[in-house]
Amino acid sequence: MSMKALTIGYLFMMASSVWSCDIFRKKDQYFTPIEISTTNTILNYTGKSYLDTIIHVGLNEANIHNVVIILENMKSQPKSTSENLVLDAYVLEERDNVFYISISDLNRYKSISALSHEIIHIQQYISQRLQVNRDGSVIWENGTINNANDIEYMDRPWELEAFKNQNNMRDQIENELYK
Ligand SMILES: [Zn+2]
Repeated sequence: MSMKALTIGYLFMMASSVWSCDIFRKKDQYFTPIEISTTNTILNYTGKSYLDTIIHVGLNEANIHNVVIILENMKSQPKSTSENLVLDAYVLEERDNVFYISISDLNRYKSISALSHEIIHIQQYISQRLQVNRDGSVIWENGTINNANDIEYMDRPWELEAFKNQNNMRDQIENELYK
């Protein structure tokens, strides 16, 4: 039996707003120091402390509590990604309330967009509206989709929702970190 995991990720090429944002902000501007009260745990193995700041703020904005996030640098594109997709980040549900995020080498602005997208997916996982099985099948809002990898990335309903909501999440995070 072939195991072909579905990748729940963020396709940077689709995020045109990030590009336009970069035109105006050439420098990777530091965040405003803030105090964060949280029940979430982030194990950040990327070497970039700004990434766990972004996730802490985003999880709080999303009212997500008591989760553990394992964060690593993306070493290679996930195998299930089709050739024409380049993911900037993806998230896996390791087990209940434990999530693994892999992220490529991005500056603060791009990281906020990528992680906003993944936090929307974490919301979908926690609410159990999204469940991804190891065989590639997906349960989305009580309906089982057996061959989710066969659905075009931008036609997947959980991706449509993540792209629809990520900008709002990004704005909330930026409001906290660029006061
Ligand atoms: Zn996604």
